[in-house]
Amino acid sequence: MHSSAESQGLIELPPSSRPPLEQVNALVEAAARAHGHLCPGQVVGVRMAILGLSLLGYSCPPGYPEIKNLLGFVEIERCLADAVSSATGLRFGRGSLKLVDQGLLAATFLDLPSKRAVRLLSRDDARDKAAQYAPGEENDHAAQTEAYRVMPDAELFDAAWVQVDMSRFLAPGVRPPKVPCASCGVLVRSGQVHKGPQGPLCAVCAGQAYFNPLPPEED
Ligand SMILES: [Zn+2]
Ligand SMILES: [Zn+2]
Repeated sequence: MHSSAESQGLIELPPSSRPPLEQVNALVEAAARAHGHLCPGQVVGVRMAILGLSLLGYSCPPGYPEIKNLLGFVEIERCLADAVSSATGLRFGRGSLKLVDQGLLAATFLDLPSKRAVRLLSRDDARDKAAQYAPGEENDHAAQTEAYRVMPDAELFDAAWVQVDMSRFLAPGVRPPKVPCASCGVLVRSGQVHKGPQGPLCAVCAGQAYFNPLPPEED
């Protein structure tokens, strides 16, 4: 029995199972086109999408309206985030994909009706195995890009059932009321108001913005 918190809910993946190569290749091609280049991250993201959705009982890409049942969470602002979005149809701009940058090569897929969620973590040792799955590739990058298409799921990922803390996120389609900032009057959307002494504040007036305003330029 595993005892560490990280091994809880661990899913035993069949040792040799992997999705059909034609499905992987088609999704990788589309992902690379959208992302701007073909890279190992596109293949890993596509494999994550296929495996994660299949563990929840969905095909990849999911059809309509099934896609409305799904939420995705990516844990890194890198190549694989684009691939997960491309392959699943989940989108940041629709609220169906969330970036939670933890600096981890991982993604979670949540089935809203059942609240079941599966998290896939890219295994670091997959990189060392790439050469054996792509003999003849001259460099590591090319070997990984080819090997990750065919490597068994169990060698690419650690998979676990998890429970997502939805209090941190807006559900897709939820539109909190627009609130005027008590200091500058701008309408604050998505529930992103800050408490101020005179009432609700926008992030800028609350001093919580990600930038600092500069003084006007002199002529
Ligand atoms: Zn890339
Ligand atoms: Zn303001």
